[in-house]
Amino acid sequence: MAEEIKAYNNVLELIGNTPLIKLNRITESIKGSFYAKVESFNPGHSTKDRIALFIIEEAERKGILKPGNTIIETTSGNTGFSLAMVSIIKGYDCILAVTSKSSNDKIETLKNMGAKVYVCPANVSADDPRSYYQVARRLHEETKGSVYINQYFNELNMDAHYRSTGPEIWEQTNGQITHLVACSGTGGTISGTARYLKEQNPFIKVLGVDAFGSVLKKYHETREFDEKEIYPYRIEGLGKNLIPTATDFEVIDQFIKVSDEDSAHTARELVLKEGMFLGYTSGAAIQGLKQFAEEDFFDENSKVIIILPDHGSRYLSKIFSDDWMGQQGFFDSVREGNISKIEFVK
Ligand code: PMP
Repeated sequence: MAEEIKAYNNVLELIGNTPLIKLNRITESIKGSFYAKVESFNPGHSTKDRIALFIIEEAERKGILKPGNTIIETTSGNTGFSLAMVSIIKGYDCILAVTSKSSNDKIETLKNMGAKVYVCPANVSADDPRSYYQVARRLHEETKGSVYINQYFNELNMDAHYRSTGPEIWEQTNGQITHLVACSGTGGTISGTARYLKEQNPFIKVLGVDAFGSVLKKYHETREFDEKEIYPYRIEGLGKNLIPTATDFEVIDQFIKVSDEDSAHTARELVLKEGMFLGYTSGAAIQGLKQFAEEDFFDENSKVIIILPDHGSRYLSKIFSDDWMGQQGFFDSVREGNISKIEFVK
């Protein structure tokens, strides 16, 4: 008999089971051991592959989705990419409503992933019929057999991580994890993972990373939604201007806020010290880790897992562009462009 060919049946079989990679130089001066859960190893290069596959398969199990039906979501980012990828393999139409604020690169990417993209005006209120929320809702109502993913308000977002990210980390660390550090956007990653881990060991500390300009940290501490916390910031995917029901605030012990500037520099440092070319929120997560360390959260016995959400290739025209960094005013006499300069040979 011929040798069996060792191949995956399609890209979806590669979702999850991402590696833990020890951090060495970037955490040199911090007490404890630090391991990154590197989510860019998912086939869609981000943690959102997990929720895309899980939510769609739940809808299939409930009989809501059948081949030829439609997946709908409001996103221009990682979730849109992952949903489009899963839709291709499973034979669904994918509709993504984005705002006109989304870069052309992102819209082109989603289009190339086979999605139908509705570009909605950014400067209208959420209840305006032209807003991307209302457009998605309308399309969902009009399209029989469609599923509206609605990741900020969908419990299945959290469940996806409860069923996959949490158990993977527990197994990979042989139950030795003492701290989890993760970014919070929808909150699905941190709260689903934390819920599972705390069921195994309630002493694990769960440390959340939020952005300056977002309401999450204050809400966690006071249960008050304070609009005064809200102002524009640049990190995409971290923090929020509303309270997502996909976040379980009870399983998070402490939040810390990180700045656009520090997170961008830390993402660049992660490349040069660990060889990991990852996204803006990966920089934010490591920046949060450093700030928690300054507040003495760790000691020599700490075994800390940090979830790094996506790949650096999505930020070439942002944090990995010296021009963009300069325009933001992120360079000064101490922190200059730290990517090797290009030399043109004449
Ligand atoms: N980083 C990036 C790049 C993201 O797109 C997101 C999702 N908004 C997050 C972090 C936060 O993950 P979650 O939504 O699960 O809290």
